[in-house]
Amino acid sequence: MTEPQYDIAIIGGGPAGSTAALYLSRKGFRTCIIEKRFFPRETLCGEFLSREVVRILDDLQLMKEFHSLSPNPITSFRFCPESARTFASDLKFPAYGLKRGALDSMLLNQAHLAGAEVYQPASVEQVEKTDTGYTLQITGIEGRQQINSRSVACAYGKSNPLDKTLHRNIPQRRSRLVGVKFHIHKKYLNSMPDHEIHLYTGHHMYCGVNVVNDETVTLCFLEDRSAGEIQPRARIEELLKINHHFAELVSSDFIGLLSSFPIYGTPDIYFGTKQQIVNGMYMVGDAAQVIAPLAGDGIGMAMESAQILASVLDEGQKHALPDVLMQRMYSERWKFNFRKRISLARKIQQLLFSAPGKKAGEFALTVYPSLLTHMIERTRG
Ligand SMILES: Cc1cc2nc3c(=O)[nH]c(=O)nc-3n(C[C@H](O)[C@H](O)[C@H](O)COP(=O)(O)OP(=O)(O)OC[C@H]3O[C@@H](n4cnc5c(N)ncnc54)[C@H](O)[C@@H]3O)c2cc1C
Repeated sequence: MTEPQYDIAIIGGGPAGSTAALYLSRKGFRTCIIEKRFFPRETLCGEFLSREVVRILDDLQLMKEFHSLSPNPITSFRFCPESARTFASDLKFPAYGLKRGALDSMLLNQAHLAGAEVYQPASVEQVEKTDTGYTLQITGIEGRQQINSRSVACAYGKSNPLDKTLHRNIPQRRSRLVGVKFHIHKKYLNSMPDHEIHLYTGHHMYCGVNVVNDETVTLCFLEDRSAGEIQPRARIEELLKINHHFAELVSSDFIGLLSSFPIYGTPDIYFGTKQQIVNGMYMVGDAAQVIAPLAGDGIGMAMESAQILASVLDEGQKHALPDVLMQRMYSERWKFNFRKRISLARKIQQLLFSAPGKKAGEFALTVYPSLLTHMIERTRG
């Protein structure tokens, strides 16, 4: 029997994978990351970084590197439904807007500097369990190769062909929930202070808008297409017609140029329950479960789940714990940390997708304005 090359192989170099690699390499684990795309790369995301992200960057002593990317500080949230008024709340925690291209590249680079071996661009095609751990079949620029690892963390994001080969219990039917992101220059906005994040509602959709680095604004929405197919740019035109706050936000040039802004989209996002352990492998980040994006907390959860994994594996190594016990510890800590957050965010999302739900929400906010601050707090870690 040959000794595996790595203690842990991490599939995916997004925030979950890189954070896991950073913690584990620093703890002395022989770690590798396999990432299928060249960085910097675009990915679907509102690019709002909540307090958990800041907390973990601080814990990893990466605040200097983070600030060198010029993230935009965000201190206030404004909810802008289709009706007459808007509702605002201060964020009582540090938050930022930053392009994922910048954040993810920095994290992956730091993981490499911490000692993790990085295979990139290289895609994991198959994973098999062996007597000593796992064998991963990888295809990259150097062709096909095989690596062996004692453990595996899957940080490959919200949906992946590997889910099928691993026989995960994810429904195959289409969710009809589609996420779309645009980057536009700040000059196309009329009236938005840099320090605010806005959430606009429309027919079967909600849309986040916040300033990120490089004078850029990220406009990102989630829509429910079960009520009918409509192209992303048409969806924005529709939002302009029905939400006057949004119409006031963007300049007259915006619509004319809409067709030239590049779009990043993901269809059929599954927000249901998934397993955190599959065939003895640890699922981290979106691979473990996706939170409704209105909470702007997916990156934070991805990084926190990586931190949990690293602490479990570290305890396991120190006390020579059996694999099954470590797997149970990870699963239980994951549920303890995230289950309530995910469930509340899903309920708020359901309200935003229904006209009566939105009316009830607005009424509640008019009567109890502090509810907004309370909701923000309840969806944080
Ligand atoms: C509409 C929308 C808006 C959002 N807005 C926000 C927001 O504003 N703030 C926030 O915190 N969160 C937001 N999120 C959530 C956030 O984008 C995710 O939670 C976060 O990206 C999860 O990180 P991850 O590392 O788990 O996965 P990812 O970031 O998806 O990274 C996975 C990586 O794995 C790689 N990969 C995949 N398959 C393989 C393979 N077979 N081999 C090798 N590599 C592979 C991919 O190339 C990718 O780089 C939003 C989500 C949606 C849907």
